[in-house]
Amino acid sequence: MTKKRILIVGGVAGGATCGARIRRLNEDCEIVIFEMGSYVSFANCGLPYFIGDVIVEEEKLLVATPALFENRFNIRVFTDTEVLCIDREHQHISVRDLKTGEQRDEHYDALVLSTGSQSEWPDIKGLDLPGVHVLRTIPDSRKIKAQLDNIHHAIVMGAGYLGLELAENLKKRAVQVTVVQSSNQVMPSLDKEMAAYVANHLQLHGIELRLNCNITAITQESDHSLRVSLASGEQLSVDAVMVSIGVKPRAELAIKAGLEIGKYGGIRVNEYLQTSDTNIWAVGDVVEVKNVITHQWRLFPLAGPANKQGRLAATDIVRKKLHTIPSVPYRGIQGTTVCGLFGLTVATTGVNEKSLQQCPGIEYEKVYLHPSNHVGYYPGAKPIHIKLLYDARNGKVLGAQAIGESGVARRIDVLAAFIQMNGTVYDLEEAELCYAPQFGATKDPVNLAGMIAANHLRGDHPLAKWENLADTHTQVTDQQDEVDQMLAFIMDDPYSQAQIVDVRTVGEFERKHIPHAVNIPLDSLRDRLHELSQEREIWVVCGVGQRAYNATRILQQHGFQVRNLSGGMQTYANFEE
Ligand code: FAD
Repeated sequence: MTKKRILIVGGVAGGATCGARIRRLNEDCEIVIFEMGSYVSFANCGLPYFIGDVIVEEEKLLVATPALFENRFNIRVFTDTEVLCIDREHQHISVRDLKTGEQRDEHYDALVLSTGSQSEWPDIKGLDLPGVHVLRTIPDSRKIKAQLDNIHHAIVMGAGYLGLELAENLKKRAVQVTVVQSSNQVMPSLDKEMAAYVANHLQLHGIELRLNCNITAITQESDHSLRVSLASGEQLSVDAVMVSIGVKPRAELAIKAGLEIGKYGGIRVNEYLQTSDTNIWAVGDVVEVKNVITHQWRLFPLAGPANKQGRLAATDIVRKKLHTIPSVPYRGIQGTTVCGLFGLTVATTGVNEKSLQQCPGIEYEKVYLHPSNHVGYYPGAKPIHIKLLYDARNGKVLGAQAIGESGVARRIDVLAAFIQMNGTVYDLEEAELCYAPQFGATKDPVNLAGMIAANHLRGDHPLAKWENLADTHTQVTDQQDEVDQMLAFIMDDPYSQAQIVDVRTVGEFERKHIPHAVNIPLDSLRDRLHELSQEREIWVVCGVGQRAYNATRILQQHGFQVRNLSGGMQTYANFEE
């Protein structure tokens, strides 16, 4: 009997995993990988660190070679071989050897498309100039590295995680870096107020940030430097431009073959990663995935999902073509990410608030907190800034963002596991997590997030939203002239607003406070209750929310209508910006 032929297009994250898994499940089929680049299974995630000389030897980026695939997995690999088109009717693909130019057809019983993504290119002049780069492959990184001695100032176009990792690594190589981003925040996966921590940190480490800034053209000067024109009219002279404004699915093969494509340009697949053709599967950056929380289709081009999808597609192929094992459905994408920048860890899981605002069916609430990574008395405690989003109806955890120097990824991983298991804020309160002074606290940041949110849902700890403060309270600033300030006071109707009570010490209050706030330090609150109105709601604020929580409990039990401004002045600083 002839063996079933399984062909895989693309031999890096999703494709290589899929091939290896098929072989582990079945010894009797033929598996062939076609890769148009010269390498398979290379660590593209390591490329920024290769630029920064954190990874010094190029070979370390090669996770596996064609020889390893052949010897260990009995998988044939053709590198430098492009798949040109798919003939679905006759179940074959046309391939071209890029070194010899020879073309041939290859028959398949099952075909896997793991063709990845390609860089988005902005529609501006000058992108073909020699100093303009993208970083996708080992040859790309070699090209950038070879020119580093002549790059003194570079623009990184795009402040997503990849652009920022590249910015950090260029800076490590003594390059002056300007990051240009068209929107008003860095790291679009974060909500804006959380992204402010990252922006501050980047600036602290010497990265120049240009937000709300668009490049309109790039031209070359006689000395080979690049003149970069901005929409504002300003011009910058640099030695290199790194384009990193996002990626789009490399779906041309699928489009030409008439497979179903989604609204974001990715291949549509079912829960078994099967395309609209039952003999073709697709995985990785090239597919659209369903978000497990919003149930909306989206692109999520990251290595973890590509690997897991490759594994599940392999299982389904073996079941459907070789009839040996049951399939496992793909649950969809949850949105877990992590990025390290100059010692700061930025991690997310689930959905952010921006996405929830687009989902009218979901009623959400949020808390901010700023606990330390471990107990304060143990040396080296560092804050973790956390935003937790949860369903207002049942407490189900919907998403979290965390930023800090230590212990961040661990907390987000715990929260990610809770989201996967449909956990609630009540579960977070109870989570039994490991504790010793150098690792955490008896109430871990994950517990604290759950406790604040659960107290809120139970009504023991009502929370006020910072955006409501900006909307309802007239803001008077030093930047306003006298007439504007006077007008603001006249328009201000204090009785339609909450009274803001700052329960920090007098010294803290004097350093900075919210306009119109009154200062009643927590320890004297019980003695000064008569100063507060029972008719108006009270919004309590402190440094990070903890003293204000105690104040909220005191005031609630004395019959006041009270809310805590979640995250305290620490969060206020970011909303102010
Ligand atoms: P890829 O791994 O990109 O593989 C697709 C392959 O298909 C390519 O090698 C391409 O040459 C080949 N191909 C395409 N068309 C054809 C054709 N017609 N014929 C033959 N071959 C073809 N993700 C993370 O989760 N964390 C990170 O830290 C991270 N860092 C990254 C850093 C960089 C610089 C880059 C570029 C990506 C990074 N990613 C990261 C993203 C991650 O690498 C991708 O999500 C993942 O590799 C996608 O896997 P894939 O199999 O879909 O595509």
